[in-house]
Amino acid sequence: MSEKSLFPGNKRFAVTFSYDDGTVHDKRLVDILNENGMKGTFHINSGRLGSAGFLKPEELRSLFAGHEISSHTVGHYDLTKVSEDIIRDEIIKDKANLENICGYPIRSMSYPYGTYNDRVIRTAQECGIEYSRCVNSTGSFGIPDDFMVWRPSCHHRDALVTVNSFLRLLSDPGATGLLYIWGHSFEFERNENWSLIEEICTLLRCHEDICYATGIELFDFLK
Ligand SMILES: [Zn+2]
Repeated sequence: MSEKSLFPGNKRFAVTFSYDDGTVHDKRLVDILNENGMKGTFHINSGRLGSAGFLKPEELRSLFAGHEISSHTVGHYDLTKVSEDIIRDEIIKDKANLENICGYPIRSMSYPYGTYNDRVIRTAQECGIEYSRCVNSTGSFGIPDDFMVWRPSCHHRDALVTVNSFLRLLSDPGATGLLYIWGHSFEFERNENWSLIEEICTLLRCHEDICYATGIELFDFLK
């Protein structure tokens, strides 16, 4: 009997992290993810790189090696409130800037402020965006019907409850699921709770049934 395996490496479960804005706190977050064998996607505003509190362009390539660099638009506008020309400009220029920095195609984004509508989605697709992450969490572990509206399982502030229900699923031989955690690394600094991400990683690390992957790795496998 062949068992259907949903994720890379014949794994029934997957875990991915998705972090926005590209502030300097991403460095500490990436260290923690790397120490625990976790992978993530980092959504960057290229127009903010190098300004106070944000990563420098020359830091991105080595910092995010093994992770995915993704668009968050050049200037972090609410895309539902600007013209189609500006939406296009914000995405195409961000993709080009990030591709120059990281040396590979940028194929995904997250919506600034989590806001989108049909026009934003269509324009992003026309700019070559293949998936985009939202901010409204599902509290569950499914695969989206529409990858341009890819909702995460939870924000990290609510993750412990969600992580524990995810871990309980692992003992169900018929179950599959993706745990998709999002946030901003500056929140750990602001809330002085870096221990939270350490705890999340400790709970999730080194499970033989879990694939640890970036957003684009999961997208390519699931498509
Ligand atoms: Zn943002």
